[in-house]
Amino acid sequence: MKKESRKVIIAGNWKMNMTPKAAAETAAKTAELTAGKNGCEVVLCVPFVDIAAAMEATKGTNVKIGAQNVHFEKKGAFTGEIAADMLVECGVEYVIVGHSERRQYFGETDTTVNLRTKAALDAGMKVILCLGEVLAERQAGITEEIVAMQTKLDLAGIPADQIANVIIAYEPVWAIGTGLTATPEQAEEVCALIRATVAKLYGDAVAEAMTIQYGGSMNDGNAAELLSKVNVDGGLIGGASLVPEKFAKIVDAAQA
Ligand code: PEP
Repeated sequence: MKKESRKVIIAGNWKMNMTPKAAAETAAKTAELTAGKNGCEVVLCVPFVDIAAAMEATKGTNVKIGAQNVHFEKKGAFTGEIAADMLVECGVEYVIVGHSERRQYFGETDTTVNLRTKAALDAGMKVILCLGEVLAERQAGITEEIVAMQTKLDLAGIPADQIANVIIAYEPVWAIGTGLTATPEQAEEVCALIRATVAKLYGDAVAEAMTIQYGGSMNDGNAAELLSKVNVDGGLIGGASLVPEKFAKIVDAAQA
């Protein structure tokens, strides 16, 4: 399968930003500025409490509203957590799982990332599965081993027929929120490695069809070059997704 036939997804990760009022305004502006840009899927992953407001503000537009995490149990005594069915009933189609901030600050491991991914897929959602090496791992020359291992552990036990609903976001941790971006060549090299790892697990056809995003200080200035790479099928964007004008320019860059 050629890159052109894969689905390009530009997803914003608002992290812990925006009250519901601000979310409605920002989502509406994003929808206005990206109207008719049908060359990619446009997703905004917003805080849980913003989902309803952002959903209402983007009704009838091409912007989809996603969540930033999901718990792996269906219900029960897990104070502060949100179950997959709750998100589905709110109309959420996409959910981020395994973001490095969850791994770094909230004790997420490949085991819990795998469980959360399975729960979201079983509920019918699409998962943006984040993985990537930390700076010390890149400096030690073990990026390939780390990323291949994360890919295998995070996808463990997920049947091939559910993989069409998995998007992998390669996010080198040293590039997230730091202003340091991987070079297009570095992004391409690791996204290609992820695809090759998926091919070993599920076969070439499944791997070739998978959307693999790059994330890490992607902005309106560097998006076009990153997105031009053969194995980079979109972006997961933090900081720049908070500013509709900047985010819309990244969406523009994905139209080619
Ligand atoms: C992210 O939150 O996934 C991210 C890539 O953030 P930023 O674009 O700010 O580096």
